[in-house]
Formats: sequence, structure tokens, C-alpha cells
Amino acid sequence: MAKLSVRDLDVNGKRVFMRVDYNVPMEEKDGAMAINDATRIRETLPTVRLLLGKGARLVLAAHLGRPDGKREPTMSLKPVAEKLGELLGQPVAFCDETVGEKAEAAVAALQNGQALVLENVRFHAEEEANDPVFSARLARLADVYVNDAFGAAHRAHASTSGVARIVRAWGGKCAAGLLMERELKFLGDELEKPARPFVVILGGAKVSDKIKVIDRLLDKADTVLVGGAMAYTFRLAHGGKTGKSLVEKDHTGTALSAESKAKAKGVGFHLPVDTVVATPVATGKLNKKGRMIFDLQNPRVVEGDIPDDAEGFDIGPKTAAAYEAVIAGAKTVLWNGPMGMFEDERFAAGTIGVAKALVAATKLGAKSIIGGGDSVKAIHKAGLGDQVTFMSTGGGASLEFLEGVALPGVTALDEV
Ligand code: AMP
Repeated sequence: MAKLSVRDLDVNGKRVFMRVDYNVPMEEKDGAMAINDATRIRETLPTVRLLLGKGARLVLAAHLGRPDGKREPTMSLKPVAEKLGELLGQPVAFCDETVGEKAEAAVAALQNGQALVLENVRFHAEEEANDPVFSARLARLADVYVNDAFGAAHRAHASTSGVARIVRAWGGKCAAGLLMERELKFLGDELEKPARPFVVILGGAKVSDKIKVIDRLLDKADTVLVGGAMAYTFRLAHGGKTGKSLVEKDHTGTALSAESKAKAKGVGFHLPVDTVVATPVATGKLNKKGRMIFDLQNPRVVEGDIPDDAEGFDIGPKTAAAYEAVIAGAKTVLWNGPMGMFEDERFAAGTIGVAKALVAATKLGAKSIIGGGDSVKAIHKAGLGDQVTFMSTGGGASLEFLEGVALPGVTALDEV
């Protein structure tokens, strides 16, 4: 069922409490906190502008970092309010409280078409506890609730869930912002009845992290392409050698049952035929986490089994070419998880190849959907961010949504 959209709200003169994702990277510069990347603020501008244009009195709530329920000056949203004002081209007020008399007075002072940013909701431990009293204190600032923070929608917190319940009980509407709406459209509706062939590309470190997504998408996909370290658990499950590669020995059964399900459903299930490996040599130095740093020597391509002294870090060129050919024929492509350890240039070719194939398929009319997290980073690294149909803004939230889990921040919104 579709969720009520912010586009269909009458908000003139109303106090709109909007949960946004302003969890931006910050750094201390000359004694003040500076925003390193304002993408998340910029992404909310369409919804913010829409609401202000309709005469809303906009109250923005967000979290920043993990202050663990305490006031932490380096995690204040004040610089975010300033940046938002700059991007909007109009002043945005900031209240150094999240709830209570001061916050209520600041909201009461808003005129139609003006916006205010509240202080970090996580300065209160009640936020993450989804405390009903705290939720009610937030709801005192609202006539209408809007959620545009998909990345936080998998959490049942006061600002993502509890406050909506109370706003609704008090007779107010609860709607999805434009960003949230796009996430629900592309990760939800579009994949419910995808244009075929529907190709799913899954990578990343662990089978165990992705198994629920694999299981659910096997009901929808025509072909599944597997890459990343998770492919080595499949190799192990087939009795193959994986050398020093990252494997999950406890999940070989999980891997085999996914393959059997694919076979039973007639879904093409492809595993890598070659691998880029390197020989890890201990340097004797420890990283920040106290773990040994390895020098990855002699990168090379091997077919089939991975030698005992080697570790796999990327899909090989034959696999990449085969995957690219499958992607070329797709009408819908969903990608979640890199094909290898793409952060290191020597092991990025498989991931970049897949990213380029996705862009080429998009140019031929396919819908390409990037399911969040590291695949989004990889697409940006390849400089192709603007050439796919949709990139999710969520990490954990995207994965849970793709698993078919009902996200508290989504279920909290009105249905139409
Ligand atoms: P995930 O969060 O599960 O999507 O995993 C992403 C991470 O897995 C990235 O940081 C990749 O560097 C890493 N990764 C993917 N393939 C490999 C591999 N073959 N060996 C080691 N790490 C990998």
C-alpha cells in the first residue's frame, strides 16, 4: 500500500515536524566544527523547499553521531542549521534544545515559510529508547509529521516512530518526504514487479549478511550474480579451495541452500570462475584496532581454486566479462555489495567493471538501482554516481528493506 506523500499535504500555517538525515561528516577546524560533506543536507532541499513554499512552519529534527544520550558540543546541529540556511538562501533558526519550553517558544516564533533546526535528538537517551513521554514532548512541536530520513527508518526511535504515533493520535497526518518516497518507489514498488530480465548483483564481505536478501530476491530475480568475499564461502561449500580468503565456514550450508532454491525456481545463479588473489605477508606492524597489517604481494589472476598461500580480493577478468554480458541484457538491475576490496586500486577492476556495465544498461533503457552502502561508494569512486537510475541513501535500512522487513520509520506513516 502506498504511503501518504508530502506532496498531498495541506500545510499552510501548520507546524510540520520533519525527521531528516543530517548525520554529516564533521571535523574540528580552528576550534569549531566544520562540515566535510553536505550531501545529506543538500538532498533534503527539495522536500524543505516544497514545504516552505506551501507555507509550512518547518521544524527539522535529526541525529548527529553517537552522543549516547548526553550533550556533546562537537555533535551539535548548529553548523548544520547554518549550512542549510546558506543552501536555501534564507535564514534558518537553530534551537539549542530539542524539547521543552525553549523549543516550544522557538517553534511558536516561526512564521509561515520559515524553518528551524532542533538540537541533536540523541542528546536525550529517551530518543533511542523510543520513550513515549519524550515522543509526546516532540509531538508538542508538531501539527503534521514528515519523515525524509530513510537511512534511520530501520530504527524504532522517538523521532522516527514514537512521535508519529502521537501526532496521529492527536489528529495530525504522517507523510513520507520526497526522498523517502523515492526510496520506497525504487527499493519497493519497482522491485515488486520488475521489468524483465531482472538481474541481481550481490557482493560484499559475508554471505550471512546478505542471505535474507538473496532468499527474498530469488522469488523475483531472473539471474543472480555473486561476487565479493561472499563468493568464497560458496566455493568452500562446493569442496573448492579458498586459501587464506575470508570465508564463513558455518555458512556453507546457507550458501548451498540458496543455490538449490535458485535451481528449483529456475533462477540463473552465477559464481566467479576466476579470482584476483594476492599473497598476504605480515609486516609486524599493528593497525589502530591492534590487528596485524599485511602487505598484499604479487597480485595475480587464478582460475578455479585459490592457492593455499593466497587470498582472494576481486573477481577475475573472465568473471567480470561474463557478468557484464548478463547485465547488458537486463531491464532491471539491483546491485548491493562490491565485487572485491575496491578500496585498493589493485582490486577495484571487478567492481568498476560492474558499475560501468550498469551505466551502459541504463543508457539502453534499463532501470539500475543501487541498494546502498558500499556499492554507492564504489559508484561514486568510479565517477558514475549521476548515471544510474537510483542510489539508495540508506545502509542498514536499505538492506533490511530489501530483506522485506517492515521498517518502523515506514510503518509509522499514513497509508493512502
Ligand atoms: P559489505 O558491507 O558486506 O557490503 O562489504 C563491503 C566490504 O567488503 C568492502 O569494504 C570490501 O572491501 C569488502 N570486500 C569485498 N570483497 C572482498 C574480498 N574479496 N576480500 C576482502 N574484502 C572484501
